[in-house]
Amino acid sequence: MTPLLPVAEALERVLASATGTPPVQEMALLDALGAVLASDMVAGIAVPGEANSAMDGYALRAADATKPLPVSMRIAAGAPGGVFLAEGTAARIFTGAAVPPGADAVVMQENCLEQDSVVTVSGPVTPGQNIRPRGQDIEPGATVLTRGRKLRPQDMGLLASMGLSRVPVYRPLRVAVLSTGDELVEPGTAALRSGQLYNSNRYTLAGLVRSLGMTLVDRGIVPDDPAATADALAEAADSADCVISSGGVSVGEEDHVKAQVERLGRLDLWKLAIKPGKPLAFGRIGSTPFIGLPGNPTSVFVTFCLIARPFLLKLQGASAPALPTIQATAMFEVGNPGSRQDYRRVNLSSDPADGLQAHMFPNQSSGVLSSVSHSDALAIIPPGTTLAKGDRIQVILLDLLT
Ligand code: AMP
Ligand code: MG
Repeated sequence: MTPLLPVAEALERVLASATGTPPVQEMALLDALGAVLASDMVAGIAVPGEANSAMDGYALRAADATKPLPVSMRIAAGAPGGVFLAEGTAARIFTGAAVPPGADAVVMQENCLEQDSVVTVSGPVTPGQNIRPRGQDIEPGATVLTRGRKLRPQDMGLLASMGLSRVPVYRPLRVAVLSTGDELVEPGTAALRSGQLYNSNRYTLAGLVRSLGMTLVDRGIVPDDPAATADALAEAADSADCVISSGGVSVGEEDHVKAQVERLGRLDLWKLAIKPGKPLAFGRIGSTPFIGLPGNPTSVFVTFCLIARPFLLKLQGASAPALPTIQATAMFEVGNPGSRQDYRRVNLSSDPADGLQAHMFPNQSSGVLSSVSHSDALAIIPPGTTLAKGDRIQVILLDLLT
């Protein structure tokens, strides 16, 4: 029997074959959530463009603050700045308004008393206080975000703050998803007969693909038949940048994916040292990359996240660092005597003294998708370990995966 392939090694091989990037396109910034920047973004302006007030209050010279000051100006947000503050006076000013040249501090209005257009300040005033200097956020010429950045909401805001409304991104990958299995029925089409079940993998995979900012090419259900499998795979490969299937990659008589991908291209079938999941196919249909995930719903989720996700991100041009793991305390006992790395579904709670604590979802069967829905994280149980309650473990937050 060939030894099982460790997850890290499978990932290395898969990543090595993710070469090239999709074509570059301009995208409206408003639509660019999850898109991957195709160039470094360099600021053409300073943000903020001029010193402005962080408070509603009075702008003045710190050195003048000990004496009553006539209010010589009123500057609201949006009013053009640049008018010099006359010596020995203060300007009524509001949050976001340009600080007049000559002033070097803003005193918040709670610490000021204005009577008959003369303001008296209480407490000490230091130069620079409550002033947001020009370029505090972004200096002109600064590289604000780099190529390969997968845009997050705050990145969209940051790019908008420097005046951009369009961004160069890699065209979102088109990922074809197909589900193999004669037992599958599309939800919403019919009640189940004996032997049947609803196609849940299509939905899990659709969500995973879309949460990566990629375009789903939905290829539906493929029956367990060699010719139908070949046709479906070939059409999917023509319509997409990558094909992902679920089921049919074992070596049973009804598993046709392996043979048909080999006919249409080439394939490696690996038995991964992973639980849940084990059979995973990787190859090409023509020139289109192909990943064949196992059929069990939980295995689909785990193997997609650990293998397909980093592959797709790299193919998309994203600079995706390895998934961070965090430490937690196991609130359960478990033995993993075999050679497969176990990814247990766990819930997290935080204990004031102990920090994060991981509680194992009671049913860890690879067919039980509830274990993923009702969990916060995957706890990594390395092969050949026995965990006692209180042991430290590493977990991967599910929220980082979608
Ligand atoms: P397979 O790898 O095709 O033998 O499938 C393994 C298990 O996963 C079987 O119990 C299948 O019924 C189940 N399964 C396969 N595909 C799906 C799917 N699309 N949705 C839900 N369960 C599936
Ligand atoms: Mg099957």
